[in-house]
Amino acid sequence: MDVEGTTESAETAEELEAGKIRLVMAMRRQGIRDARVLSAIERVPRETFVTGAFIDQAYDDHALPIECGQTISQPYVVAYMTEKLEVGERMKVLEVGTGSGYQAAVLAQLCRRIYTIERYRTLLLDAVKRFEILGLHNVTAQVGDGGKGWPEQAPFDRIIVTAAAPEIPLELANQLKVGGIMVVPVDVDGGQGGQKLVRVTREEDGANVEDLLPVRFVPLVEGVARES
Ligand code: SAH
Repeated sequence: MDVEGTTESAETAEELEAGKIRLVMAMRRQGIRDARVLSAIERVPRETFVTGAFIDQAYDDHALPIECGQTISQPYVVAYMTEKLEVGERMKVLEVGTGSGYQAAVLAQLCRRIYTIERYRTLLLDAVKRFEILGLHNVTAQVGDGGKGWPEQAPFDRIIVTAAAPEIPLELANQLKVGGIMVVPVDVDGGQGGQKLVRVTREEDGANVEDLLPVRFVPLVEGVARES
């Protein structure tokens, strides 16, 4: 376990801050327009969510390995998904795939409450410690199979899935309010064609589905992980 609340030296802190500014500028150039999203990225210290050896890469725009063979998503993809989710400050949001907790921490800046679910207890406990370090009191996290959603808390205004599903997960879509939005990576041609990010908007009867970007996520896996 390697939760870093502080950085090792003042110089490192300055380097991290400079890296963060560069990253946010690059996001803007790459088309992230929502000022609230960019400001949320600025407020969340990504270095708190990466494991020790990767601290110096905290603001590089790529995914990094975390415990349990999983990854913290690429910052641009976090910003992009957050923007496409069109969140509002009164919203209740479900995240499937807590991982490091970074995406949940970004959403926590923008919404009323985040429910986040992870199949690895180890990852969940690390993420919860980070939420505590950062004083994020509007995140509720639990171990479970996120493919089944969080029926006790449904319906949600928004759902974000950060692991790739074989197809659009209907059990999750059914936990959206009418008018609610889900952003989810899904396999293309059974995974042979990679993955694409899709946005599902729940309608009165049925749903509208929109293709967004090609992406690469770890797979959504059924059931709670068995850990030794
Ligand atoms: N949002 C994360 C990205 C984590 S990677 C972050 O910001 O760091 C995706 C995560 O989804 C992994 O931790 C993986 O264990 C988890 N996952 C995969 N299938 C799942 C399932 N069915 N239920 C809950 N979590 C799942």
